[in-house]
Amino acid sequence: MRADDILHPTEAGLYCPPGDFHIDPIRPVARALITHGHGDHARAGHGAVLATRQTLEIMAIRYGADFAGQRQVAEGAIRVGDTTVSFHPAGHILGSAQIAVQPDSGPRIVVSGDYCRRANPVCAPFQPVPCDVFVTEATFGLPVFRHPDPADEMARLLASMAEFPDRPHLIGAYALGKAQRVIALARQAGIDGPIAIHGALQRLSDYHVEQGIALGPLIPATAADVPAQLVIAPPSAFASAWVQRFRDPVIGFASGWMQVRARARQRGVELPLVISDHVDWPQVTATIRELAPAEVWITHGAEEGLMRWCALEGIPSRPLRLVGYEDEPE
Ligand SMILES: [Zn+2]
Ligand SMILES: [Zn+2]
Repeated sequence: MRADDILHPTEAGLYCPPGDFHIDPIRPVARALITHGHGDHARAGHGAVLATRQTLEIMAIRYGADFAGQRQVAEGAIRVGDTTVSFHPAGHILGSAQIAVQPDSGPRIVVSGDYCRRANPVCAPFQPVPCDVFVTEATFGLPVFRHPDPADEMARLLASMAEFPDRPHLIGAYALGKAQRVIALARQAGIDGPIAIHGALQRLSDYHVEQGIALGPLIPATAADVPAQLVIAPPSAFASAWVQRFRDPVIGFASGWMQVRARARQRGVELPLVISDHVDWPQVTATIRELAPAEVWITHGAEEGLMRWCALEGIPSRPLRLVGYEDEPE
């Protein structure tokens, strides 16, 4: 069986005929295998969902307990149709997984979903899984993308808080994953007083704490005189009336895209924090070298640059051209 016959793009998403399932489908399907809880990968309305326990629980928090007809926790090797699948940590957000698909005869394909190689206090590290075909994202798949050490970014936040002790520091971060990572990084950097969080972060942050991730004292960022200098909120909050309760705030934003200064300026961000949950160029190329797959398939992002690099390395590659992942939280 050729790799193409095992997985190929369809309008609903990546489809596996021998297993009769889709991976991270963008439309409702009979059986979905889901890599992680971000909205562009995990959608409600599938007949059956197979995912890690934490991804299933995150989906229940976001979409309600009845988000799919059936839910199955991915543990160990699982038979699905004429394939065996297994889930392995991706290092992207809590519960995130790569999915390995092994047909009864034919190449083993690993779909990495979104992944990151840098240590992250809110999730298990990426686990390299030997494979014949490696499916990789290329969100930051250009040589210009080199993400700094998050500890250095947090040091800049602390320096700003010390320089402007009377100004609240409002940091934009996506509600699932990035917000909790920024809070955990702030604790590692030595901020031990209360951190205020926007209401949209409450349930997902509570869930991280339930899962054993120490976030320290969190208070709701509702009152105008919230007694915390550091406030974390989702990007949408900055376009709402909520932000107007803070007097003379320092506006920050935590994202891999903050490396692009024009984006920071466009958003009116005074304190851009380059903190990414995706592989940058050195990480994606090192991962491909480490796995040494026979072939690389490239999904959302800068496909051309990575294809050119693969060609120079003598590794066949091609773009998957999946649609529907444009609004990746990053
Ligand atoms: Zn993601
Ligand atoms: Zn994605």
